[in-house]
Amino acid sequence: MNFPYSSGTVPVSTLGTPRIGPRRELKAALEDYWAGRSGAQTLLDSAARLRAANWARQKALGVTNIPSNDFSLYDHVLDTAVMVGAIPKAYGWSGGPVSLDTYFAMARGSQGAAGACAHGHDHGQEHGHGVPALEMTKWFDTNYHYMVPEFSAGQRFTLASTKPVDEYREAKALGYQTRPVLLGPVTFLKLGKAKDPGLDPLSLLGDLLPVYVEVLRRLAASGAEWVQMDEPCLVLDLDEPTRAALREAYGFFAHALPRLKIILTAYFGELGDNLDTALALPVAGLHLDLARAPEQLRPVSEKARAGLVLSLGVIDGRNVWRADLPKLLDALEPVVRRRGTDHVEIAPSCSLLHVPIDLEREIELDPDVKSWLAFAVQKMDELTTLATALAGGREVVLSKLMASGAAADARRASAKVHSSAVAARLAAVTPNMTQRRSPFPVRAEAQHHRLRLPPFPTTTIGSFPQTAEVRKARAAHGKGELGDAAYEAFLKQETAAAIRWQDEIGLDVLVHGEFERNDMVQYFGEQLSGFAFTRHGWVQSYGSRYVRPPILFGDVARPAPMTVEWWKFAQSVTHKPMKGMLTGPVTILNWSFVRDDVPRSLACRQIALAIRDEVADLEKAGAAMIQIDEAAIREGLPLRRADWDAYLGWAVESFRLCASGVADATQIHTHMCYSEFNDIIAAIAAMDADVISIETSRSKMELLEAFVSYRYPNEIGPGVYDIHSPRVPSVEEMEELLVRATQRLRPEQVWVNPDCGLKTRKWEEVRPALVNMVEAARRLRPGT
Ligand code: GLN
Ligand code: ZN
Repeated sequence: MNFPYSSGTVPVSTLGTPRIGPRRELKAALEDYWAGRSGAQTLLDSAARLRAANWARQKALGVTNIPSNDFSLYDHVLDTAVMVGAIPKAYGWSGGPVSLDTYFAMARGSQGAAGACAHGHDHGQEHGHGVPALEMTKWFDTNYHYMVPEFSAGQRFTLASTKPVDEYREAKALGYQTRPVLLGPVTFLKLGKAKDPGLDPLSLLGDLLPVYVEVLRRLAASGAEWVQMDEPCLVLDLDEPTRAALREAYGFFAHALPRLKIILTAYFGELGDNLDTALALPVAGLHLDLARAPEQLRPVSEKARAGLVLSLGVIDGRNVWRADLPKLLDALEPVVRRRGTDHVEIAPSCSLLHVPIDLEREIELDPDVKSWLAFAVQKMDELTTLATALAGGREVVLSKLMASGAAADARRASAKVHSSAVAARLAAVTPNMTQRRSPFPVRAEAQHHRLRLPPFPTTTIGSFPQTAEVRKARAAHGKGELGDAAYEAFLKQETAAAIRWQDEIGLDVLVHGEFERNDMVQYFGEQLSGFAFTRHGWVQSYGSRYVRPPILFGDVARPAPMTVEWWKFAQSVTHKPMKGMLTGPVTILNWSFVRDDVPRSLACRQIALAIRDEVADLEKAGAAMIQIDEAAIREGLPLRRADWDAYLGWAVESFRLCASGVADATQIHTHMCYSEFNDIIAAIAAMDADVISIETSRSKMELLEAFVSYRYPNEIGPGVYDIHSPRVPSVEEMEELLVRATQRLRPEQVWVNPDCGLKTRKWEEVRPALVNMVEAARRLRPGT
């Protein structure tokens, strides 16, 4: 038998590691290359250095199953599409090696700068000339975005890139025996999109498998003993054809390469009703996510055939908390005893791609909070500690285990985590706090009477261009080069100018522009207790875009008003209504690393109470309209349908809790930057915002259909201006979109606004576009 480890030790895997480099080296290398400041070889050299450093780091930390091909210049799903030659015709590839230019054209489009949505989730879409990028979408329920493979009728696959083999050999030349990672063929097809109606991506499996076999054959010929195949689709609701496809694929591999060992990795949840399918596949190992679904350990270890290697994903790869190692060992020891050290591995729940790299660099973090955290490097150390204890007994690593247990105890007991005042407030929440005083028609009348807006009122979503000057001033203020007073004066000047301009062009409801905000979540997190921020805690969102999610570590409270002074200043500049602008609790939650010691629902309710206080203070200050953005409600949907209702239940309740404290005549707006509402329209309606703005311009209003067929009763601003593009839409275009909207909705329901905030756009684009938008609205008004 040819296991990659000798019995008596327990191997440690990472499944995948962050690619970006501890100092975001990959971003710099990519952006230099894209800007023409460096050549291809420089980029490739930087990438090779990052890979080498990654392997060396894992080796030094005692990782035994070091992955290769987990690196990517942009995205591993894109890499897979390129590997199998799934390159749409538009990119002009005609066989042979795929050039970097073709690769990046698929990632980013072939010309100009990519547009971005206001929260920075660029959709990679290009407009105007050139070839647009592939579509981009979220990788399962993470904040990582992948490029959606495209398949067309008559699709054939061919080996177009040997990246997995090249990187395996590269590691080998450096002295590392790695376990290459491939995205499995079934998940790959399921993540893709058929360009032609009637084409089922799964029907392409038969043509795809020989390409995979060719890659596997080359890996084996180069010396690989094991290959990691990621099939995270195994944690989704699967139909019978998909299960059959898994059987076909892995049967095919076992038949073609009987000696190559495949470890099948399923992560982001429990196998659930796919467990029997997974256990019956002819693979050598199976990885389980035991952070999300610890309860599956028992059934799996009882049912799994004796020879199957189980990879126990006990260290949370999706979150930043330090594990309680003694507690984990209590659960793991019986399993290891039963199955033997030869048939288990210790792993994170999923690839470490989703956590920041190294906690040690965070020298400004509160030392207590820091002692409760673990980033990728620290998680690797936890993995090897667990493995050592499992193989040789707890005594061998006693001091590490004690430190881990002590940190967990300290966190459980800390006054920084638990506030009795917050607990008391939460306990005092009553159902009527989630209920506006009157139903929508009564509120609408009170609001119309107070606001006296014209039909088809015009507004924007909140942010105005974050120009180079704004960013420069913020950076200078951050470094202490620009004093508080000077910075504030600068921001006031920008804000006042933006407001005067909105007034001048005739917008009906104004915004202050959000110049003072670094980020729509961070800005609030920094003012709430219970949140911590890192300096270097970057994780990849997509391509060269990284985010630094706030860390929600404790009970949330709002020590003081957060936006009221800015709102007051903004309203003092104009007689038109000025929207108060807040980020909603679900979005703050979904874009943060969330504590794992209480349910998400509870953390969300705490944030909701804090925002509720802010809403009340804005109302008291005189705000007639308050917008509470919930950009991330949809992306928080659980992977399994069966879990949707519970999530939507507390998400909607949290929104209502923060929004329902106001008088009938105070208008609550919400905003969501997407348009797929079919599945969640009942929940959206249950939020009962007086006005919702959504993203509809690119779908030509077709995506309003969910609202139409639901007979959505409240007011809606369907976006008429695609802010992802530098293009300035004409009056006629926007008028046509509005006409379509009025044909589908009651005209008095309709607001006029862009798809999203304008912070990523330039003033030169925004000015003419909004002038046109105001004119388009005017043309619809009776008597004009
Ligand atoms: N008010 C925010 C802005 O305009 C909304 C951004 C978002 O929903 N992503 O920037
Ligand atoms: Zn938006």
